[in-house]
Amino acid sequence: MILTSVTDRSKYSNVWVVAEFLSDKIQPVTYELVGAARKLADKRSSKVWVVAMGSGISQQVGSLFAYGADKVIVVDDSRLSGFIDELEADVLARLIGKYNPEIVLYAATARGRALAPRVAVITNCGLTADCTGLDIDPENGDLLQTRPAFGGNIMATIRSSNHRPQMATVRPRVMRALEPDPDRTGEVIHETVEMSDMLKIKRIIDVFHSDETTVNLGDAEIIISGGRGMKGPEGFELLRKFAAKVGGAVGASRAAVDAGWIPYSHQVGQTGQTVQTKVYIACGISGQIQHLVGMQSCDFIIAIDKNPDTPMMQLADIAIVGDVFEIIPEIMNELSKM
Ligand SMILES: Cc1cc2nc3c(=O)[nH]c(=O)nc-3n(C[C@H](O)[C@H](O)[C@H](O)COP(=O)(O)OP(=O)(O)OC[C@H]3O[C@@H](n4cnc5c(N)ncnc54)[C@H](O)[C@@H]3O)c2cc1C
Repeated sequence: MILTSVTDRSKYSNVWVVAEFLSDKIQPVTYELVGAARKLADKRSSKVWVVAMGSGISQQVGSLFAYGADKVIVVDDSRLSGFIDELEADVLARLIGKYNPEIVLYAATARGRALAPRVAVITNCGLTADCTGLDIDPENGDLLQTRPAFGGNIMATIRSSNHRPQMATVRPRVMRALEPDPDRTGEVIHETVEMSDMLKIKRIIDVFHSDETTVNLGDAEIIISGGRGMKGPEGFELLRKFAAKVGGAVGASRAAVDAGWIPYSHQVGQTGQTVQTKVYIACGISGQIQHLVGMQSCDFIIAIDKNPDTPMMQLADIAIVGDVFEIIPEIMNELSKM
């Protein structure tokens, strides 16, 4: 597909954030994106707008102002309950056509990754996926989108100089939310789902109703993560029980995901999710750099591995040398006694 260049940039202004909802609740990554958008907008003397699409969400959007938003477009409609990517993409593309934002930011989550490319195609814009850094050229408004490239060996900074709006997905837990200011207020604009938005929908995928796709590792305080050392799907059953006992979520290395032992939505690392939990327990994960980049900022890391010399065992605050199938049941037994 050949993208036609935008000739009149002056009609595009403001930085938009597409709010992320799960079970119709605002997700923390939205506040992180609003914080990032605020810094970009301030350099351009422009405004931060948030687009909130969902069902029964109107009452929640006030918090967005405290975190730095100036305006919130609310599209509150029962047909937006769950997540239908075609419908949200059509609604959003129509709003972009109406208000002409200069920049649109999405979370690099399952939802954002499904939505952003659809909107990019409809609006004839470029999209930079999985950014880990954002800045702006204050003169011409070019978004400087930094992301790992060539297997994480270099960081590339990408501009979409010829196209507006400029769109990027940003990894959760990479940007910091601003300190909320409860006295900050802003304007709410109500928009509706129109029939034209509905016409193109041929199928409904309610991804967030399936347990395996609702994994929100970003919000977990404890992650029990498994790798090739878990040997198979049964090993991950053990990890699920362990996670249930400590109130945590289950993560995985790419080796385990590629083997089909657990869905991709659980993958941690360069091509999976970036997490920053209080506790990360790595079970049978050697800790190759592509995995470490996704979890090395966790507060406290525990590793269980037969091999004491792996990068993960070196990184860990506590390294337990031994067989995961002996050590995990022992830990669970001790927890039951407590
Ligand atoms: C472009 C690119 C992107 C990538 N992205 C990612 C990514 O996002 N996330 C990711 O994880 N990887 C990613 N990888 C793959 C990464 O390089 C590694 O191959 C992968 O992380 C290895 O997974 P692992 O640690 O589970 O497996 P291994 O490296 O095979 O480690 C298994 C560990 O289990 C231990 N073990 C075995 N049996 C037991 C037992 N019974 N008890 C205790 N310990 C045991 C072994 O001693 C070993 O340390 C990527 C690679 C590339 C090239």
